[in-house]
Amino acid sequence: MIRSANLGFPRIGARRELKRAVEAYWTGDIDVASLTATGAELRARHWKLQRDAGIEVIPSNDFSFYDQVLDMSVTIGCIPPRFRVGAAGADLDVYFAMARGTDDAPAMEMTKWFDTNYHYIVPEFLREQEFTLQSTKAVDEFLEAKSLGFVTRPVLLGPVTYLSLGKSKDAGLDSLSLLDRLLPVYKSLIDKLHAAGARWIQIDEPILALDLNDRQCDALRSAYRLLNASGADIMLATYFESLRDNLGVAVSLQTRGLHIDLVRGREQLDRTLAVLADSATSGQDTVLSLGVVDGRNIWRSDLDNCLTVVEKAARALGTDRIEIAPSCSLIHVPVDLQVEQTLDAELKSWMAFGKQKLEEIAALSRAMQDGRDAAADAFAASSEAARSRHASPRIHNDGVKTRVAGIKQADLLRRSDFQTRRVAQHRRMTLPEFPTTTIGSFPQTEKVRKARAAFRRGDMDRGDYEAFLEDEIKAAVEKQEALGLDVLVHGEFERNDMVEYFGEQLDGFAITKHGWVQSYGSRYVKPPVVFGDVSRPGPMTVKWSAYAQSVTDRPMKGMLTGPVTILQWSFVRNDQPRMETCRQIALAIRDEVLDLEKADIRAIQIDEPALREGLPLRMNDRNPWLRQAVDCFRLAAAGVCDDTQIHSHMCYSEFNDIMASIVALDADVISIENSRSDMELLSAFVDFRYPNEIGPGLWDIHSPRVPSVDEMKKLLCEAASVISRDKLWVNPDCGLKTRGWPEVERSISNMVAAAVSLRA
Ligand code: GLN
Ligand code: ZN
Repeated sequence: MIRSANLGFPRIGARRELKRAVEAYWTGDIDVASLTATGAELRARHWKLQRDAGIEVIPSNDFSFYDQVLDMSVTIGCIPPRFRVGAAGADLDVYFAMARGTDDAPAMEMTKWFDTNYHYIVPEFLREQEFTLQSTKAVDEFLEAKSLGFVTRPVLLGPVTYLSLGKSKDAGLDSLSLLDRLLPVYKSLIDKLHAAGARWIQIDEPILALDLNDRQCDALRSAYRLLNASGADIMLATYFESLRDNLGVAVSLQTRGLHIDLVRGREQLDRTLAVLADSATSGQDTVLSLGVVDGRNIWRSDLDNCLTVVEKAARALGTDRIEIAPSCSLIHVPVDLQVEQTLDAELKSWMAFGKQKLEEIAALSRAMQDGRDAAADAFAASSEAARSRHASPRIHNDGVKTRVAGIKQADLLRRSDFQTRRVAQHRRMTLPEFPTTTIGSFPQTEKVRKARAAFRRGDMDRGDYEAFLEDEIKAAVEKQEALGLDVLVHGEFERNDMVEYFGEQLDGFAITKHGWVQSYGSRYVKPPVVFGDVSRPGPMTVKWSAYAQSVTDRPMKGMLTGPVTILQWSFVRNDQPRMETCRQIALAIRDEVLDLEKADIRAIQIDEPALREGLPLRMNDRNPWLRQAVDCFRLAAAGVCDDTQIHSHMCYSEFNDIMASIVALDADVISIENSRSDMELLSAFVDFRYPNEIGPGLWDIHSPRVPSVDEMKKLLCEAASVISRDKLWVNPDCGLKTRGWPEVERSISNMVAAAVSLRA
């Protein structure tokens, strides 16, 4: 019989219970017993929720206090030595120390999980790396579920993905060479799970969605040759992309089950069915898990469409060999739409969060078992949502569609080349050599957050709130003048978040109240929802920038979030190509840029920190995507006159492979995160002869440490030795909103002193 399955449920709780508990534990407000009790409570609640929704195959070990990759590191004893020395206290403290660092041991690196906005803790490998089974978390949680009446399918991150995502700390060490040492530990873990009663185990190998080299393919083959030999049946989960040319490898692994993502890779269905139906190429009874419900987005599924897929698969393989599942783990969507009170009924009727997605899977399974009528309500709601989205005037705005269709090449081009613009800009804004500036935000103090909360609750009226913001801006401007900065910012005190702030003001966007998803550890984000054609009813930032400019003679830099970043950090409508939506957002930002220019703002920064994270996973798809992304940025930026200086800011540590696109943005000035990589990054800009002006970040704003004048002078000298000094700017790595004023003032003061000394 066909089975309904899930690959992973969001662990954070519909009311962010996990965040509260974890943070309370960190501050010492609750003890370890109370933290573990919250964990157990959430797991029990989520297992029950999944069963009540009608899911038969329920995962376990998808819970985590911080991150599932970190869990795996701890499970197999891959704990960097700096956390082992004198690490007294509970295991959990070592675990959190690895994620967050301690006074003596810097935290492990964190990076984005494939093309999502989820961050994992990067495993660290040494040449003499040993692995041992150190934690029984997976087994414990399986038994915990079992004692509550749930026979779950434990989830493990696969060994080849695990090694591929890690970083070797010893030069020349190839992580995959550790596979032989790692596999016995996996094998013994799987054996233990099997002995505890787990018939099936889900093993995630999302690297199968990437371009693989021969080493990785060989590693996969040797891994699964061994792991298949344990008693348990393995459901090999792939997601985030179609398998494409990796289908052969995936099938050759001969696992009992294979999960494919049919949302991102619908076109792989036919090929996969053909291969699996042919007993010559696969085991006779491989179970295919069909990822038909989108685990990455919040839209209600088109159930008829999904059913067609499932029926086709059932015809090819027989219902016994089919599972219906979300495309990937549901940790990338919020928990439950029901708790959402701010969205109107129509919008809600178009959407599905984690719990609702499971209900969709169950409805599909019922329809397969007892006919479509058995799930008539779910199917009716689904087709009604599709019909009304297609027709709704809230979604479709002809003016916007016409404007996008009319975009011309000339709209993407500045009036003159950089050299000409530069002369005009330097005439309009006289700046010293090594001009100093910051990235935009200043500390979001308790006072600022309290005022915003009071305004939102209705306890403070708009007039008082805006007067408060003006006072904050004025104070920040005075501080910047006193510190001697050259190009000032207003401080972004009016913004809760650099994307939500714009989402709140643009038409076509909706903001949820509880739509949280985990970004890393206890940091959750609440992406806005782009449901319709995007337009800008009025200026969004001009008032604040103009006010800030009115209280100083120094140039005030306008501050906007770029179209690609807004797209990347939102839930985006799925009824038109994402880049179409991006172009609409770009036009709205373009209008804002022009309004800032009209308000006499001489420098405008358009942040694109997420430019890189939207990159397609497969190399072949990257250039077409990058070309469109660059065009969107240029569309937003290029409307201004020559003497308006366009800045951009990016903060991630890998520019090297997209340098051509960064150059193509044609921003007059770019500020980049850099200090954490010891200026290593700059080499990419040098190799590429970055043509415009550039500000390599001089201090790491992620740490409260105040770097000395000498330290920053040294970095600046290094930069000046490879980039011509008339093109160098002086700035921190990123915005300062998470920091406190005292450290910020001291750091800026040292930074300015470094610049002044270099000028001399
Ligand atoms: N202007 C934003 C700030 O200063 C940039 C944030 C970012 O790059 N993530 O906060
Ligand atoms: Zn940044």
